[in-house]
Amino acid sequence: MPELPEVETIRQKLEPRLVGRRLESVEIHDPRLVRPFEPVAVAAELEGERVVALERRGKYLIVRFESGKALLIHLRMTGSLRHAPNGTLADDPHRRAVVKLDDGSDVAYRDVRRFGTWQLLEAAELEPYLEERLGFEPLERTFTARRLAQRLEGRRAPIKAALLDQRTVAGLGNIYVDEALWRAQVHPLRPAGTLQADELARVTRSIKDALRAGVKRQGASLRDYSTPDGGRGRMQDRFRVYGREGHPCARCGTPIDKIRTAGRGTWYCPSCQRLERQAASSSSSRPSRSRRHSSV
Ligand SMILES: [Zn+2]
Repeated sequence: MPELPEVETIRQKLEPRLVGRRLESVEIHDPRLVRPFEPVAVAAELEGERVVALERRGKYLIVRFESGKALLIHLRMTGSLRHAPNGTLADDPHRRAVVKLDDGSDVAYRDVRRFGTWQLLEAAELEPYLEERLGFEPLERTFTARRLAQRLEGRRAPIKAALLDQRTVAGLGNIYVDEALWRAQVHPLRPAGTLQADELARVTRSIKDALRAGVKRQGASLRDYSTPDGGRGRMQDRFRVYGREGHPCARCGTPIDKIRTAGRGTWYCPSCQRLERQAASSSSSRPSRSRRHSSV
C-alpha cells in the first residue's frame, strides 16, 4: 500500500508533466473510482480544466485546477499513476481511467484491487475535508515531539495503532511505522500515552528519518507500486525490520520478531525495542549521529 514516500515520489515525478497542462479528454472506466457520482459526469467536469498545482497531504494527491476545484486522489491498496508520451500507453486490463493532456501525453490510472478513489471537490470543500481526516504533516517543521505528545496524551492504544491512525500523523502506514519505531527503539505495543519525553523525541525524529529515507529511494516497490515513468522504488532493499522476520537486527544482531497488532503484521527487534522501559537505556543505546546518518 502506498504510504507518504510513495505518494510524494509520484507527486514529484508528475508535477512537471501536469502543471500548466489542460485536460483535453478524460475517460473513467470504473464507476467505483468516483462513486456516488457518474463517471461520465465527473469526466465532463474535469475536461477543459487547467492544472495549477500538484500537492500532497498525507497519502492524498491533490490536483488543483485554475477554476479552484481540486481532484483528490487516494491510491488505497493498489492504485498507481503512469505518465506516457503520445500513443505509447500499453494495454492494461487494470486501467481505470485515462486523462489526455493538451501536449498529447496521457496520464493513466491503474488499480488492481479497485479501492482507490477520485473525488472532485469545490475549493471551499477541500480544507475541511482534509482537516477532518488528517493530523500532522510529518515532514513539516510544525511536527514536533511536543505536538505529538499532545496528540498521544492519555491514549491507551499501542503506539503502533496510534501512529497508523491518520488523524495522529498523516501519511504513515504499516511499513514506515515499523521502520520508525525500530529507529526510535520503542516497542510497537507500548501504550501511546505512556511514552516519555526522550522517547517522544526519538519517535518524532525517527518518523521524519524513515520517511525521508523512503522519499530519497523513491518509495518501496513490493507488489504494485511503481513510479509514473514505470520505474521501481528502492526502499524495499533498505528495510531494517519490515518483512524481515528471523533476520538479524542491523543494530544488535538479535533476530527480528513478528507479531500482530492493530490487525497488521508488525516487525520489531525484541532486544532494542523492549516493552518494559529500561533505566538509562535511552541515552546510552541511542545511535551516534554518524551512525544514524549512515543508516539513512
Ligand atoms: Zn536490535
